[in-house]
Amino acid sequence: MKITAVKTYRYRYDIPEEEQFGNSTRWNAAKNTVIVEVDTDEGVTGYGEADAAGGPAEVTQFIIDREIGPYVIGRDPFCVDAVFEDLYQKSMIHGRRGVIMHAISGIDCALWDIIGKVTGLPIYKLLGGARNKVQAYHSGGFYRRNVPDEWYAEEAKKGYENGYRAFKMKIGRLSMEQDANRVRLVREAIGPDSKLMADVNSNYNVREAIRMGRLLEPYDLFFMEEPVSADDPEGSALVARSIPMPLAGYETEYTRYGFRRLIDCGAMDIVQVDPTRSGGLTECRKIAAYASAHKLPITSHIFAGGLTFMAGLHFSCGVDNGFLLECEANPNPLRTNMFKDFELTLDGDGYVSVPEGPGYGVTLDFDTLEPYRVG
Ligand SMILES: [Mg+2]
Repeated sequence: MKITAVKTYRYRYDIPEEEQFGNSTRWNAAKNTVIVEVDTDEGVTGYGEADAAGGPAEVTQFIIDREIGPYVIGRDPFCVDAVFEDLYQKSMIHGRRGVIMHAISGIDCALWDIIGKVTGLPIYKLLGGARNKVQAYHSGGFYRRNVPDEWYAEEAKKGYENGYRAFKMKIGRLSMEQDANRVRLVREAIGPDSKLMADVNSNYNVREAIRMGRLLEPYDLFFMEEPVSADDPEGSALVARSIPMPLAGYETEYTRYGFRRLIDCGAMDIVQVDPTRSGGLTECRKIAAYASAHKLPITSHIFAGGLTFMAGLHFSCGVDNGFLLECEANPNPLRTNMFKDFELTLDGDGYVSVPEGPGYGVTLDFDTLEPYRVG
């Protein structure tokens, strides 16, 4: 079986002004995504998504179209390790992290879809088939302009009413006292039995992270996410040893080489990868194996469109140490309207079941996406 073509489709959802949101360092006015289509000589087509956050989505698309994509023409889509190594070596000088790795990830995720479709198996079973459902968490609590602190509690309460029993919110933008007050209000809204996590997006230094970790102790956090920079593994390790809750990270790190550095020095208690950023499912399963050897659980960061969500769902269900599924609460039709045959539903415990069909087990709805197509 041979790859005959790599195509890309770029979409953009402009967020209405009143719904625009931020983390500790940046505001979001649009959601962008690049869907990668890989065609084969046997008529089987696979789809993946390349995360397009962090800069112009045109750049991600250009790299797939003009730099990375042409290398995989003629390759066997089953040879994911060989294809990854080839792409990694050929693009090494151009970038081992960031947009190059997003582009490689998008192609890799499409190859796994092809393998699933040819074998008739869902991707989570190809990855190890550890479980068929996973706890979803309501990833909300992003900063909004001109809202009172109570707004965040109201948002979480709606999530609770919709069946979520795990929640994440942003901290790190406001004063520690005001952010701690937001955390208190959300904790009160979701009750003592739900999981609550707080995400700093790397906006603290080590001292600040430790101080905030102690300040948040009364609210029983399940984890604090990316308190400091992924570029400072030793600093992160010091935070991890000093705060009362587990430390999770790092969506800003890439490949098994980057995660080896973090894991080796004890930079986190919970490993977070992103199949559409960190190197695809091929690289993420290697990171998962390394984490498993250190008895660390692994979860997927998900912030893009529907296929990123699917890659994260299959990953968390596939690998032995996988758990939790990030479900972004911000409105995004590129996530919620991407498929003809999937709608997010939670069971009574707040878990999501993984589709059992071949590949990702879903069908892309290009007609519904068309109004958002920009390239
Ligand atoms: Mg995060």
